[in-house]
Amino acid sequence: MTWRATVLTLFPDMFPGPLGVSLAGKALTSGLWELEARDIRASATDRHRSVDDTPAGGGPGMVLRADVLAAAIDAADAGQNRPRLLMSPRGRPLTQSQVKELAAGPGPLIVCGRFEGVDQRVIEARTLKEVSIGDYLLSGGEIAAMALIDACVRLLPGVMGKQASGEDESFSEGLLEYPQFTRPQAFEGRGIPEVLISGDHAKVAAWRRAEAEALTRAQRPDLWAARPGQKATKSTTDG
Ligand code: SAH
Repeated sequence: MTWRATVLTLFPDMFPGPLGVSLAGKALTSGLWELEARDIRASATDRHRSVDDTPAGGGPGMVLRADVLAAAIDAADAGQNRPRLLMSPRGRPLTQSQVKELAAGPGPLIVCGRFEGVDQRVIEARTLKEVSIGDYLLSGGEIAAMALIDACVRLLPGVMGKQASGEDESFSEGLLEYPQFTRPQAFEGRGIPEVLISGDHAKVAAWRRAEAEALTRAQRPDLWAARPGQKATKSTTDG
């Protein structure tokens, strides 16, 4: 079965958007994955096709209606057992290991919020798992959904040219990636580290490992502390 992302949105025209070009786009055209963008508004029932209403209890903005959204989910999801996600700043921030898990499954159904968000009852009634892409606010869930889908698609078999170039990258083994270089050999007076042109593969590997560790410690002490195999005991040099 082909991996498929189903997106429920008020703006289906935003798709495939950036997912239609480069790696993801080529894979989409060649059938390595499928994308279905469904208009939530198609499930509206009143004559104004309204999808939102004012928040109970007052306050600014509008809230996506539970009945309309539930009908849209049911129409998209009939009888299928797939992860049902809601892009939401209240969710756990997305990680590479969650991405791996999603890429290994049948592909998610993703609800994109707009306005002030969605009625809490539909989150519970349709067991939507809230997923965030970071601690900042977007104006809608579409760009967040695209980020999640892009991260999954590049892990699907056959999408990346060389399968190997997934194993060494940032977040594998809980480390950020080492610095990369290419031609020209000299750029504005800066060279390429000697070891990388030495042809000594063991030395190159050791240099990359050391750089990855140093970068992770400096830029992401949180990742460094949480990396796999890390003992729970605190080093005496900490704090
Ligand atoms: N009033 C809400 C914000 C709504 S933003 C609050 O304070 O929590 C509108 C929609 O954009 C959300 O429903 C969600 O679908 C999407 N969105 C905004 N920020 C996001 C983030 N960091 N990650 C994922 N989705 C996000």
